[in-house]
Amino acid sequence: MRPAQTKNLKSPPRLARGVLRVTPLGGLGEIGRNMTVFEYQGKLLVVDCGVLFPEDHQPGIDVILPDFTSIRDRLDDVVAIVLTHGHEDHIGGVPYLLKERADIPVIGSELTLAFLTAKLKEHRIRPQTVHVEAGDRHQAGPFDLEFAAVNHSIPDGLAVAIRAGAALVLHTGDFKMDQFPLDNRITDLRAFARWGQEGVDLFMVDSTNAEVPGFTTSERDLAPAIDQVFATAQRRIIVSSFASHVHRIQQVLDAAHAHGRKVAFVGRSMVRNMGIARDLDYLRIPRGLVVDFKKLESMPDEKVTLICTGSQGEPMAAMARMASGDHQITVHEGDVVLLASSLIPGNESAIYGIINKLTDLGAKVVHKGNAKVHVSGHASAGELVYCYNIVRPRNVLPVHGESKHLHANAELAIRTGVDPAGVIVAKDGMTIDLIDGRATVSGQVPAAMVYVDGQTVGQVTEDTLNERRLLREGGVVTVLALVDATTNRLTEPPEFLTRGFVHDDHTFDGATAEVEKALDRAAGRSVTDLTKLEGVIQKAVARYIERTYRREPVVIAIVVDA
Ligand SMILES: [Zn+2]
Repeated sequence: MRPAQTKNLKSPPRLARGVLRVTPLGGLGEIGRNMTVFEYQGKLLVVDCGVLFPEDHQPGIDVILPDFTSIRDRLDDVVAIVLTHGHEDHIGGVPYLLKERADIPVIGSELTLAFLTAKLKEHRIRPQTVHVEAGDRHQAGPFDLEFAAVNHSIPDGLAVAIRAGAALVLHTGDFKMDQFPLDNRITDLRAFARWGQEGVDLFMVDSTNAEVPGFTTSERDLAPAIDQVFATAQRRIIVSSFASHVHRIQQVLDAAHAHGRKVAFVGRSMVRNMGIARDLDYLRIPRGLVVDFKKLESMPDEKVTLICTGSQGEPMAAMARMASGDHQITVHEGDVVLLASSLIPGNESAIYGIINKLTDLGAKVVHKGNAKVHVSGHASAGELVYCYNIVRPRNVLPVHGESKHLHANAELAIRTGVDPAGVIVAKDGMTIDLIDGRATVSGQVPAAMVYVDGQTVGQVTEDTLNERRLLREGGVVTVLALVDATTNRLTEPPEFLTRGFVHDDHTFDGATAEVEKALDRAAGRSVTDLTKLEGVIQKAVARYIERTYRREPVVIAIVVDA
């Protein structure tokens, strides 16, 4: 196995004829913002373009995008974007890429394109779409694409085989191997085997669950636990789920129907996606089962089911708001809250905080920790080794996962007999060249985190985030100083204004002397420029507070020429 070494890697050389270059721009080292660029004969193919959702240490960020720097000057060479499935971490970045070049053809399955088109409508972009199905073959520039069905936590997922000259790359997308899925559309291992016979030069494999031993439980196995909730609930049932998890919601609808309840969808993305899924026949809704949320309010509690999600389609965001009484659904005594999802995003203590608050409101909370109401959408180690044995690839590039997941997946590949020299644990931005069936790391292109904050893209930097963290942890202290610019002397003691920094009348007593000393030293160096003096005072006060109180608030100095 060749682990990632980003140090000393330079920009890759110009691509020689006949070489296929594979550059993951996202999804290697994080769960999200999946994106890979393939380059062959001067043309580029993009597979997936997703977002990463921010964590607690990235305050104020809406989503995080892959870094488009390395392809920005070459957008005219992009022949297509292939989307493996409709999850946000695979399609969420497409609006931002299309804003840079609107007419890149987008290739995907029916449901994937429908979810994408609805999302792009909000960005006022009408994409050029190419609808493909499992089994289809499609030529995009020099890339010969062939698609196979994969099973995942959203319907209509595709794996894609990419032929470029003599090279064959197989990209699984996100997948698992549920043998009894609700739509009976299983991962097409026969296609995997066929490509394996032909000779897969590079196998790019979903690593999300590579550390989980055994096999991922079937979606159908959740039915008894979901049914139990409906059989025993006395009041309303409030279900939270990802807005894209059509099969999970189908199971909830079936249970509600069986127990004589009505259902309302709550949350823009839930209403929108379920409308699309119903119109395209991915969701079967018995007549009269689903009613408007407003209509449900006048019904008796024991007839009510609410299925909701957060604004980005993430369930826990909505539950957090409900728990703090900041949501259109008010949780009552006796309600049952069913968390029919994984408990990400967010850390565990935040999740249990939400569950505790809902419990305090009188609700009974059913979640994956106390009932079998969630299964993962990704293949566990047992499934992955089957795939390696079926495909028998020459080289392996684990994708979709944090470092620990990529390494676990690499070890599985090696255990099945893949030559360790051909198993590459890479990082975002590393370029991997396929030459005569051999994969080698050839360089590194930019792969920074690109932050979206409101209307801005890429303007928030790591420094901005650091300031936000400091503001959050230490508050802010503003120093207002009247300075005589000819002498660098304070004309009166500076004024200290604070937000989020605890202080009393004497907190800054010693600071004035520090400011005076710093101004004297500046005068000695003939520094009289007001902006520079602000820097001098800012540093003096920050140092004083750090030394005296062991606190690091953001310090802002304003100097007025007196
Ligand atoms: Zn997915």
